[in-house]
Amino acid sequence: MAFILPDLPYAKTAFGEDMSAETFDYHHGKHHNAYVVKANELVAADASLQGKSLLELINSSKGGLFNQVGQIWNHSFFWLGLSPETQEPTGKLADLINEGFGSTDALIEKLKAEAVGHFASGWAALNLKDGKLEVTSYHDADTPVAHGATPLFILDVWEHAYYIDYRNARPSYADTILKKHVNWAWVAENLDGNGAERANQPG
Ligand code: MN
Repeated sequence: MAFILPDLPYAKTAFGEDMSAETFDYHHGKHHNAYVVKANELVAADASLQGKSLLELINSSKGGLFNQVGQIWNHSFFWLGLSPETQEPTGKLADLINEGFGSTDALIEKLKAEAVGHFASGWAALNLKDGKLEVTSYHDADTPVAHGATPLFILDVWEHAYYIDYRNARPSYADTILKKHVNWAWVAENLDGNGAERANQPG
């Protein structure tokens, strides 16, 4: 069974100029798809890899295969964390944000600083750790699920994520997406600890 490119959970025009249809054409249709194609090639060439889920491969591989399967999971999780409509955190998630950072605005500024300060390609992330929220980042294809983390949200800070709509302005991209397009309802669902599985695929 081969890995697939998951459908986007919204129309690629849904974000207007904040994340354009052209960006989705390239970022989802070409970059994310290329990771799926390459991972399937590597798995097809090695019987010992077949039948393993994305998460199983992420946690048992290194190098080229790790990069492909890590990026499949990362992108699948990233798309699910975005919302065309602006939301506000509520309930237990809002409580955790207030306890950890003082306000949602303060959390967003911390995530933005992590995204902007991350050198070169990678991912800014919000995890649940020991019952508290944690802001961190990962390099290249590295992923929270390779570190036993409980992922809640990740933001792609590879240049391919923003170069069409924001050119080199990573701060503008991070600011716009974090302030207007986080799917906080879905982030809150991931407090159940099942976020890793929500972007998993069977092998
Ligand atoms: Mn990407």
